[in-house]
Amino acid sequence: MPTIEPTRRRQAEALLRFIDSSPSPWHAAYTMAEWLEEEGFQNLDERSDWELEANGRYYVLRDDSSLIAFIPGADPLPTAGFRLVGAHTDSPGLRLRSHPVEAADTMLRLGAEIYGSPILATWTDRDLSLAGRVALRHEPPTVCLVDFATPLLRLPNLAIHMNRKVNEEGLRLDKQSELPLLMAVLENEIPTDRRFIDLLASHLDCDPETISGWELNVYDTQRGAFWGPNDEFVASARLDNLASCHAALTALMAEDETPGTRVCALFDHEEVGSESFKGAAGSFLEDTLTRISTTLGMDGIERRRALAASFLVSADMAHAYQPNFPKGYEPSHKTVVNLGPVIKTNANLRYTTEAFSQALFCGWCEEAGVPWQQYVHRNDLPCGSTIGPMTSARLGIRSIDVGSPLWAMHSVRESAGVLDHAYMIEVLGRFFACPQIPANA
Ligand SMILES: [Zn+2]
Repeated sequence: MPTIEPTRRRQAEALLRFIDSSPSPWHAAYTMAEWLEEEGFQNLDERSDWELEANGRYYVLRDDSSLIAFIPGADPLPTAGFRLVGAHTDSPGLRLRSHPVEAADTMLRLGAEIYGSPILATWTDRDLSLAGRVALRHEPPTVCLVDFATPLLRLPNLAIHMNRKVNEEGLRLDKQSELPLLMAVLENEIPTDRRFIDLLASHLDCDPETISGWELNVYDTQRGAFWGPNDEFVASARLDNLASCHAALTALMAEDETPGTRVCALFDHEEVGSESFKGAAGSFLEDTLTRISTTLGMDGIERRRALAASFLVSADMAHAYQPNFPKGYEPSHKTVVNLGPVIKTNANLRYTTEAFSQALFCGWCEEAGVPWQQYVHRNDLPCGSTIGPMTSARLGIRSIDVGSPLWAMHSVRESAGVLDHAYMIEVLGRFFACPQIPANA
């Protein structure tokens, strides 16, 4: 059993509290912005002029849930380039509908759309609540964060007496008719959306007439916890991919000064394809890098030189081997929890890793004293993807896809290793500090 040093335990503890404070992508961005402000980062508005200086600390938000934090490097940008870490702020789950209240016999239920690809069965029998943002009809319109924080909703399982084959066939939920969330007994009232709007207004302490819309995540209120004989594992919601966001920002803040310009690009909408004005397929990162280089006095050629001297680490969680289910894994690529960052490779470019980017990343692991492992998906199962391919292609910069090993990806409660989180912070720190990205001559 691994011994967990106090510093590494504190990093995992900080991760769990960060996730507890981030029940939606909007809360995640808000929590990160607060943290960055505490560490001396200045908020830049995309509508305003920017003034930047070497080793200054800055961050930009786009639409409250995508965030880019950066620190201009000490060396000239065209030769030193950008050190980018990309991750995502959203997680799969359920989103409340526009007309959420459902007319159903005996119970008042709230209807939700499926966001991304959650493991639906894991949402049953959990202490669920709602968090996200609400638009208010003010002049001009405003949005505010909302988090009910206490259990408000539930998706009770069907008792085994009515579902006798559940242990042989698994729990299958009809996505339309069996997902509405139970909230209250009906008591002869006609259910209308007004019931929910009044509840929301009383929580926000506002006039119900001013509420014009919402984006509300259903989430599990159980806090993140350590487990294992030596507390060497963590269990929490949204480890995919708030763990990578937390590792990236922790590594970003670790050094006062580096030659290259450090950038953490943390996007919403990865779980639904990233095609939005704030997603990784949108212009946010390219716009921000262009503004950084232009504000620092670079012309187009110098900006292009900077991109050619840059590198992207696309950090998203990886599949940890679960020995009860060997059939799910490629037998020569079993990645083990607490044995270090996973380098993800796919011949069909679902991941960006190639031989040279892997050599660079392994070099940073070795310098940091961090072990690493390799993952390849089975041929007979479709492989997932992440923001690496689209970001790297759009910017024309070399990239690698890596992540900490994770059990039960897209479950309402995922699980990972304390050491892996520390290892990821350590290797990203080495990457940020590296003076030059070697050319593949
Ligand atoms: Zn992910």
